[in-house]
Amino acid sequence: MSQSTFAQAVLTPEEVWAALDVLCDPEIPVVTLREMGILREVHVRQGRVEVVITPTYSGCPAMGQIHDDILSTLRALGTQAQVTTQLAPAWTTDWMTSQARDKLRAYGIAPPAPCGRPDPARLGQSSVVMQFAHQAVAREVVPCPRCGSDDTTETSHFGSTACKSLHKCLACLEPFDYFKPY
Ligand SMILES: [Zn+2]
Repeated sequence: MSQSTFAQAVLTPEEVWAALDVLCDPEIPVVTLREMGILREVHVRQGRVEVVITPTYSGCPAMGQIHDDILSTLRALGTQAQVTTQLAPAWTTDWMTSQARDKLRAYGIAPPAPCGRPDPARLGQSSVVMQFAHQAVAREVVPCPRCGSDDTTETSHFGSTACKSLHKCLACLEPFDYFKPY
């Protein structure tokens, strides 16, 4: 049985990116995998799709679901894909896009402060480096995602998941999660 027996849709990398752009991080359903910096690369070689992902942290329980979501999304388009997990360089919260940070804030989660390891894919854009240098000054302050007040305090180092800590705003009195930088 030859390979051509199977009707295989041939997608361009752009089409694969567009198709996967609807997939969200299972733990933060408002932020897409692309915005999280989890989706790293898409390769199409002789009609075969390879998607490269980097887990947000080792042992992240959502990675199995992310893997399955990518495969089933591309399968629905008639394409067999392979998901490759790339562990180095390690994911850092600095890879999250500004859209991801805005969405987190709107979702009631304070976005992570920069930890000084910007996405290598975006290195060379001086504006990104400038932005990180500027934001690093305010590293210790976790502004309230609801009212924007800097008058907040950490109430528990572990929030709803291990990657978040629990804070309370002393201005509006609302508790909120902070996505810890790492
Ligand atoms: Zn507040």
